[in-house]
Amino acid sequence: MSGRTVKVAVVGAGPAAFFAVEALLKAGGRVSVDVFNRLPAPFGLVRDGVAPDHQAIKSVAKVYQRLLEWDELRYFGGVELGADVHADELRAAYDQIVYAVGAQGERPLDIPGEELKGSRSAAAFVGWYNGHPEYRDAGFALDCRRVVVVGNGNVALDVARILVRSPDRLAETDIADHALKALRRSRVREVTLLGRRGPAQAAFTNPELREFGTLEGVSALAEARELELDPASEAMAAGDRVRTRNLATLRSYAETTPGADDRLVRFRFFVSPVEILGREGRATGVRAERTRLEEGADGWLRAVGTGEFETFPCGMALRSVGYRGVALPGVPFDSGRGVIPNDGGRVVGADGRPVAGEYVVGWAKRGPSGVIGTNKADAAETVRAMVEDRDAGVFAGCAVTGAGRGGVGVEALLLRRGVRWVDKAGWRRLDGCETRAGKARGRPRVKLCRVEEMLEAAGPPEVES
Ligand code: NAP
Repeated sequence: MSGRTVKVAVVGAGPAAFFAVEALLKAGGRVSVDVFNRLPAPFGLVRDGVAPDHQAIKSVAKVYQRLLEWDELRYFGGVELGADVHADELRAAYDQIVYAVGAQGERPLDIPGEELKGSRSAAAFVGWYNGHPEYRDAGFALDCRRVVVVGNGNVALDVARILVRSPDRLAETDIADHALKALRRSRVREVTLLGRRGPAQAAFTNPELREFGTLEGVSALAEARELELDPASEAMAAGDRVRTRNLATLRSYAETTPGADDRLVRFRFFVSPVEILGREGRATGVRAERTRLEEGADGWLRAVGTGEFETFPCGMALRSVGYRGVALPGVPFDSGRGVIPNDGGRVVGADGRPVAGEYVVGWAKRGPSGVIGTNKADAAETVRAMVEDRDAGVFAGCAVTGAGRGGVGVEALLLRRGVRWVDKAGWRRLDGCETRAGKARGRPRVKLCRVEEMLEAAGPPEVES
């Protein structure tokens, strides 16, 4: 390895970014890291994605905070790649760049009626209740009795749970104030989750599905006839503990007798949405085709339409069919897969060869899959490639060494552009402001949900002279 300090830029400050920082630290050698984050506050999906009633999962932020405090790490919150700083500028200023930008886009259903009022993405709902500044004014009125959630992943479970669980319980969390207020007034009584395939194909994890059986004032329901498995699904479930346990949970939901005043969560399967129905511009229901499974040559069990249809009346339809990566200006992108093309974490250019000194981790690398912990092995693989490359003297862009790279250069650039960023001390002030407000109300924190409020609480950065 070279004897000088290797300057690394990490773009993004979510779980994947911090697992990469941790792995870099553990790898040893002289390294300094500048973390650039689009939003002022760090921690990505841990702050803006993980549901507020899952505080135990959010506690991983303490580990990230410790990493953030590392002397050789600088934080540039509120700095967007492509707008405030450009990929070529990073290439000129750093030896290595790690893209840890997640998957910022949402997948559409591509069916008629998706544009109707009340037809929304789960991503927007999640951002709204978590206080993500971009969704602060997303305006979920919750003035309907029935909601349909399309999709059978953990995000679908999160949004369904937030819609039905007691606001008094949510008031003990760091849910955004505006969302808590709307949920207290909510008229939603029934949420139906639609799986286009069967219960054995659902992407739920066990505790998340089981939790519905424990929520006060909530009954989870399933239909016994939809839990009968065809031989291929039977075989699929047999060797898989997660699926087997999910099936047992769903079977228990098929035997639930709901309490008279309970809010209901219905798990429905083999129904694939074909249209969002509407009246006067507002969603009134989801029309779905009943499906059966058909095994493809690759062994994948696909949902195929049966020609029978069913309508699910609702005032809000949330599509929760996965996230999708979005291209970063000046950075290679595989638009088919929605990821930054890479080979074991090394970014690959249009010529199919690695781009020197550029790397990717997390959802931007492998697509939007896995839980937070999945990013650990993912980041370790990328950092192994980074260490190999620095040992071999392969660095980013013009690969100039010496004074001026990283260092004051980036700060000067941002100052010249009038970009106001949040540094580590600023984040500590912002964090302190939120947690103090939370303490006063018996909550972990009260989030500031507008960028201006966050910058105000953080104060200006300390600029190195
Ligand atoms: P996901 O797990 O990929 O689930 C997407 C779901 O959408 C699948 O059930 C998929 O069904 C369905 N789908 C896709 N296209 C569809 C269409 N056109 N019509 C109907 N259904 C369609 O995605 P996610 O729920 O967004 O979660 C993303 C990742 O974050 C996952 O790895 C998840 O486990 C993780 N996460 C974890 C937690 C937690 O640990 N508590 C919480 C939230 C998210 P098919 O299988 O048929 O394609």
